[in-house]
Order: sequence, then structure tokens, then C-alpha cells
Amino acid sequence: MSRSAHPAGPRHADVMPEGHYTAPPADLNALDPKVWARTVTRDEDGAVTVGGIGVTRLAEEFGTPAYVLDESDFRARCRAWADAFGQDADVFYAGKAFLSRAVVRWLKEEGLNLDVCSGGELTCALDAGMPAERIAFHGNNKTAEEIERAVTVGVGRIVLDSFQEIARVSHIAQRLGKRQRVQIRVTVGVEAHTHEFIATAHEDQKFGIALAGGQAAEAVRRALTLDGLELIGIHSHIGSQIFDMAGFEVSARRVVQLLAEVRDEHGVELPEIDLGGGLGIAYTSEDDPREPHEIAKALGDIVTRECEAAGLATPRISVEPGRAIVGPTAFTLYEVGTVKPLDGLRTYVSVDGGMSDNIRTALYDAEYTVALASRTSDAEPMLVRVVGKHCESGDIVVKDAFLPSDIAPGDLIAVPATGAYCRSMASNYNHALRPPVLAVRDGAARVIVRRETEEDLLRLDVG
Ligand SMILES: *Cc1c(COP(=O)(O)O)cnc(C)c1O
Repeated sequence: MSRSAHPAGPRHADVMPEGHYTAPPADLNALDPKVWARTVTRDEDGAVTVGGIGVTRLAEEFGTPAYVLDESDFRARCRAWADAFGQDADVFYAGKAFLSRAVVRWLKEEGLNLDVCSGGELTCALDAGMPAERIAFHGNNKTAEEIERAVTVGVGRIVLDSFQEIARVSHIAQRLGKRQRVQIRVTVGVEAHTHEFIATAHEDQKFGIALAGGQAAEAVRRALTLDGLELIGIHSHIGSQIFDMAGFEVSARRVVQLLAEVRDEHGVELPEIDLGGGLGIAYTSEDDPREPHEIAKALGDIVTRECEAAGLATPRISVEPGRAIVGPTAFTLYEVGTVKPLDGLRTYVSVDGGMSDNIRTALYDAEYTVALASRTSDAEPMLVRVVGKHCESGDIVVKDAFLPSDIAPGDLIAVPATGAYCRSMASNYNHALRPPVLAVRDGAARVIVRRETEEDLLRLDVG
């Protein structure tokens, strides 16, 4: 992703400020299908529509800001992942990206499994009817209550993250008279982010048990001796927003090496490996994500090759995409409140939300694009920063983008690719009311998560 300051900004042609922008797109009204949900288009009046419904109607009916989710796109992506991985592999949707009961029902209907990492996510999954055996329970510090509930309801697997947890889960399972299916999460010495991966000798982070120094082998040794556990495999998750398969290649090779060591030492071939999630999506036109079938083929080939080399039968593979399924399916719809040109710098466009509905820009320096959604415009492109209404100068939604220079209060703008880690990380900062999630499909929109009200805020404030 090489980005360079472009000297040809039409509005501020002499002094272009520092930033990550490239040249303005040739056509500001165009909606790049890479970053927008599949049914998004413009109607004959120029307004953005999704699932056959225009944003003006959505804003009138449901208000702004709002997350607008293309249900048929979500379902299509689930099917694409399930089809790509086929019968001999399992796809677990990572619920932390965005979870609601409607989402759980879609996953269930489309044949996906579900990762949860808290009691709250487990409750949501079970309440919406996801069979417990299709749920995996994750996390580096599950409470005793969470473990007890997961074992009691019979989740398909618990992914063990520490030596203490190996003992704890076994103890709880035994007390409940059960044998819990588990995987051990290992850190393989690979960290992948976006277009690069880094192979590190030691793992300075909180997740997993290191392969290095024989720790993971020791974890397997312990898990195999405990009566409360049925060890079904090894788990590895190497990062997020990954485009380069090289990190998975190294990760799979190291996990298979461990499987071979386990076979040599214990005479046991563990039947499963989980390669985690982290597959990247297009937030801007410069990102080029891979299709699920390419990812499935690449991962399948790597595992098959490594297992053949080690003389192992190929284990059942599972993957855990979160962002890659839900991320592209939603955009955030905002109304513009103020437009403030800063001479020689850029124009600040303030919207009726901000870091409370999208913390990713402030938290990770994430990149987004934006489009004028309620109409088209032939005005010249203008370099903008889309900011929220919070009391924080880092309250930025889109750091650098172009909007038509006639953008004005009352216009609706839309930020694409906000389906993952936006509503799920939303906050009540400044007593903001968290926006609703609208599911749109075949000309109908419905609220799947409603907007918070001031009564909701006061209900928790018990004085
Ligand atoms: C976060 C996470 C995922 C999903 O990551 P995405 O980037 O949303 O695909 C999958 N597995 C584990 C263990 C995770 O922590």
C-alpha cells in the first residue's frame, strides 16, 4: 500500500498538507464495488441505495447516524466461505467483529459456526438458537463462571490460552462430570498485519502459549494427561487485516511441526488445526483482498504439503474470519452538521457521530473512504477530514478523503466497510447514543439493533 502526497489537489493546489491521500478519484460520484456492499448503487436521482432502498428514506425513517447492513451480501459472503472450505473444513465466524441475534440466525441458516469470547457473546449466540456444538469459546482470561457455562451447555470447543486455563477447564469439566473438547492456542512467532508479516523469536503479547522453548509441547503434554479434557487440535491466530498469505504459510508449517512432535512423543495424531482469522478487506480502493476460494486453496495446499512432508494425515482445518465476512457488508450513514475550511490545510466536515461509533481511526490509524450519499455533485473535489462531534481532537472518522466542494450541512455522507469492529466497539463517550444497525434486503429495511435512548443511559445510572 504505497501512498504519496499528491500535488494536484484542486482546492488547495499550492500547499498540500501531510497525509495519506492520493489523487482525488476521477469520478467522486462513483462507488467502487471493492469497498461498498454488493447491492449498493445510486438511483436515478443520484442517491445511494442499498438493497433497493435509498439512504434518504433510511435517514428519514430511522435517523442518523446509522449502520446500514446489506443482509444479502452478508449471507452471500457466509456461503462463499462455507463453499470455499467445503465439507472437510469448518468456518467459524468471529462474533466479536459484530454480533446480534439476527446475525446468529443468518450464520446458522448459512451453515457457519461461531466464535465467542465472552459470556455475553455466548448468551447472544445461544439465545438466537446457535447449537452449542457449533460454538467455539475463546479468550485469554475466561472467568470460572464463563468456563462453567460453556462446559455445561456443551460448546463444541474451548480454546485454551494458558497453563492455568488448561488446569482450570479440566477441573471444571470433571466437576461437572464432562470431558470438554479443547484446542490449545499457540503463538508461532509470526505476526501479520496488512501487507507484511514479521517472524519474531519471542512473543511479547498476551495471547497463546509459545511454541518457542517447548512451552506449547509442554501444554499438550499436560492437556493429554487431564481427564476433563479431550484435546482435538492446535489453534493459531496471527494477526488482522492480512493480505499476504506468507504469514499463514509459516504459521501452518510450525503448527504441523508441533503435530508431528506430538505424534512422535505420544503416538497421538491430533485431528484438527485452526489457522484463525485476520483476512483483510478493502477499506479503500488501494486494498486488494483475496476471495475466499483463493484463501481456502492456499491454506489447504500449505497444510496438505506440510503434513505430507511430516508423514501425517491431513487434519481437519478450521478458519475464523470476522472482518472478511461482515466488514464489507455495512456502511455508516451520517448527516453533515458543519463544514469548516482551514486555509491551506483541508476542510473539516463534522458529522453527527464520530469516535463513539467508529473508534478504529483513533485506535489504529485505520483508513476509510467516504462518499456524498444523498445526491451526486459535479463540484470540484475537495480534500476533507471527516470528524465527529466528540470532545477530543482525535475524534476522526476519515482522516483524508475527497468530497465535492459543495458539501453542505444537511447532506448525508456514507463511510463504507464499517461492518466489523465499529458497532461492536462503540461507546457512550459524551453520553452518545449508540446508533442502530439496520438490515436491508430486497427493498425492506428493519432494525436489528435499535438506537439507544437517553432512557437507556439513565437506566444504568442508579444514582
Ligand atoms: C479477532 C479474532 C478473529 C477474527 O479476526 P478478523 O480480523 O475479524 O478476521 C479470529 N480468531 C481469533 C482467535 C481472534 O482473536
